Amino acid sequence: MNPFKTLLLTVFLVIGTSQAETTYIHAGTLLAIPGSQPSQEQTVIIKNGMIQDIVGGYQVSDDPEIKHIDLKHAFVMPGMMDMHVHLTHERGPNRFKDSMQMSDQLQGMRIIHYGMKTLKAGFTTVRDVGSKEQYMFAYRDAINNGWVDGPRVIAAGGVGITGGHADVSGIKPDLMEFYTDASICDGPYDCRRAARNTIKYGADLIKITSTGGVLTDRATGTGQQMESDELKEIVRAAERMGKKVASHAHAEAGIIAALEAGVHSIEHGSYAGPKSHKLFKKTGAYLVPTLLAGETVVRLAKETDLFSPAIKEKAIRVGTDMKNNFGNAVKAGVKIAFGTDSGVSIHGTNMEEALLMYKGGMAPMDILVSATVSAADLIGMSDQLGTLENGKYADIIAMPASPLDNIEELMHINFVMKEGKIYKQ
Ligand SMILES: [Zn+2]
Repeated sequence: MNPFKTLLLTVFLVIGTSQAETTYIHAGTLLAIPGSQPSQEQTVIIKNGMIQDIVGGYQVSDDPEIKHIDLKHAFVMPGMMDMHVHLTHERGPNRFKDSMQMSDQLQGMRIIHYGMKTLKAGFTTVRDVGSKEQYMFAYRDAINNGWVDGPRVIAAGGVGITGGHADVSGIKPDLMEFYTDASICDGPYDCRRAARNTIKYGADLIKITSTGGVLTDRATGTGQQMESDELKEIVRAAERMGKKVASHAHAEAGIIAALEAGVHSIEHGSYAGPKSHKLFKKTGAYLVPTLLAGETVVRLAKETDLFSPAIKEKAIRVGTDMKNNFGNAVKAGVKIAFGTDSGVSIHGTNMEEALLMYKGGMAPMDILVSATVSAADLIGMSDQLGTLENGKYADIIAMPASPLDNIEELMHINFVMKEGKIYKQ
């Protein structure tokens, strides 16, 4: 066939496919832009995975190639985004045994399972902030290539200090040595190296741990661990390469040090008080509250033998205080981005975070904003995600009734679309 004919055929095929991929969603109630009021009886027109238009009334096309989806009795909104997940694992009685017995390949395949549970719960985008990195980078890229189904993934690379929360713990010394990698650093220049190193291998952002952590199996507390010079150097190295930094932090001194260094989000923020609230507002950083993690570790500490004594004490103390302090951050007007710490909690139960945020004093609309508009802003993708507007990804979820009237409606997601493809209906 001559090249011109081939070209013509290609053009024809492309047009043929794109028509087949046009969808009209009839939305009874449409919250296109969380933060503003929903509208009634709208048609969302989707072409090739993107929103092409939103028009009033229920539009109908005679074209047999165009698909119509009836969500006339539903509340329709942008897909939710969870800014704090760990998709390579899940805490439970077999976690340690599994990591020793399962092949790396099988552990990699399990991410697909956890990812689909998350997507079907209504989360079309996640930010993974601490998993086995190469697994997550591969999973992210495989999804983007269309090889496997899953939520859109923004994947962090970790940088932590020797003996700190991000370092290995709870295993015998020679195994600890085996599992210690190039992400562990000490001193500003070494941490600069570690930050650059994780970007080199594919990190979308850097995750650091400015304070101790609840689930470190060492009695090293939850106070500040990284020094200011280390924090500043990591943020600088990341920003030079166009990347953001998320810092795990419990104690207020560590929250303040991380905010002063210029991090873009504080994860957990359990002991944030008036001083850090002021800094949050000054720097524009987000708080990612992970109340579900607090709730989960308190329950596991009280009801199971999963935790060592070193962890148990921290779990009950921090988990309880985290929930109590969240309301103060909301009242102070700190910017909040939705995040669960799934992996500590069960994958697919991410929506429970919304119920906890509501109990903690956040209004339903603000909760929806935190998981859409604010999350998109935190990952620097506001031009593509977070609202349903022309030219953005068709990441759409629906539920039978409005979560603005009853936040528990979020537990009944019955429609999930990501980039125009339906995963639940
Ligand atoms: Zn976490």
